Amino acid sequence: MAGCPKIHFALPRRDVGVARNHDGPVKDDERRHNGDGASLEVGGRISLFGYDPTPATLRLRPRSRSWRVGGSVRTMALALLAAPVVGLIPPHAPWVLGALAGGGFLARRRWTERFTVLEVEGTCPRCGEPVKATRGRLRSPHPVLCESCHYEASVDVPPEALDREAGDQQ
Ligand SMILES: [Zn+2]
Repeated sequence: MAGCPKIHFALPRRDVGVARNHDGPVKDDERRHNGDGASLEVGGRISLFGYDPTPATLRLRPRSRSWRVGGSVRTMALALLAAPVVGLIPPHAPWVLGALAGGGFLARRRWTERFTVLEVEGTCPRCGEPVKATRGRLRSPHPVLCESCHYEASVDVPPEALDREAGDQQ
């Protein structure tokens, strides 16, 4: 006996080309303002007491407000999470205070990091050899170390130059 005829339901494939109207622009310019992009160069002056100052070029990265605030908040949140944990260890209170104070210190440092020093090019006022600076928050004046004579000099950047280049205004 012949088998039952199989019926194939050939369902018409309705291609889902219907729900395809994205609206709204793509947000691709969000990275532009987060302050982690371009670096800039500013001129400064290396000084060491008793010697003639020498010119310097600093490569800096301006930091945006959101970068600074975000970093501060994360640091403080971490300290708040850590405080009750380290507080379990006797004598308890000093650890809690230490965690909070340390967190506050780091958070404040991040909050005030308007510029990060990437590189300092210049020569030692004392011996003329290249100086080296540590990467990190630009301080005023910023310490630079001569690897040749081991004197610590400092580099100054005119505040006007920084105001002009700030990653965010105030
Ligand atoms: Zn030197």
